[in-house]
Parts: sequence; structure tokens; C-alpha cells
Amino acid sequence: MYCPKCLNQTLFIQTKGVVDIYINGKKRDNGRFLYNMDPAYEDAVISDFTTKCEEFFKWYADFKNKDTIQYIELLTVDIKCESGCRFSPMERFSAVDTVISREVIQDVLTSLGEKYSLEVELKV
Ligand SMILES: [Zn+2]
Repeated sequence: MYCPKCLNQTLFIQTKGVVDIYINGKKRDNGRFLYNMDPAYEDAVISDFTTKCEEFFKWYADFKNKDTIQYIELLTVDIKCESGCRFSPMERFSAVDTVISREVIQDVLTSLGEKYSLEVELKV
């Protein structure tokens, strides 16, 4: 990945960490999950991601004014630059396609949308 500090392709995601989930710009207090890049954990990570998205959908389904679900961001601070660049905790990076693939995101949100009668039209 591209490092915003040294401008090289030297950024990589750490093998374990935490990802925050923002849906339409909203994040619940517990809207995060642990990941592990070891392929042995792939199913467990997807399952935790799904659980957290479901918690969000359940919660959002009770809103009076519901917007179409269009945006999802997966953000993490668990990133390292091979050149040793330092980042503040405010600098966060997308975990889409590293921790969770776009296809999985699309599948999970589409089926949750059907389950909770929420419109989903992702723009990722
Ligand atoms: Zn760097």
C-alpha cells in the first residue's frame, strides 16, 4: 500500500489488529472487531465482521428516518511502513480488500439488508 508520509509502496497491514466499522459515517461504541491475517482465521474474522454489521443493522432498523446504506468504511491504525514512518492515532487506514474483501462486504450487507428490510446500495 501507498504510504502518505514517504510516498512509497511500503505500507503494510499488521498481522493482527483491530478494525473500526463505519456505516454511512456512523459507528457504534462496540462497532469494531479483531482481525488476524493468518488464513486459518479467515472464517472467524468474517464471522466477527458479520456479527458487528448485524448489530448495526438491528440498531439502525429502529431509526425513524432511514437512509439507504451506501457507505461502509473499515478503518485501522494497525499499519506499518517499512521505512519506519510514524503515524498518529488519528491517522487511520482502510482495511477493505486486506482484512475483508469487497465481495464479502457486498454479500454480508446485501443479505443483512434483506433480513432487516434496509435498502443497501453500496458505493465502494
Ligand atoms: Zn512511509
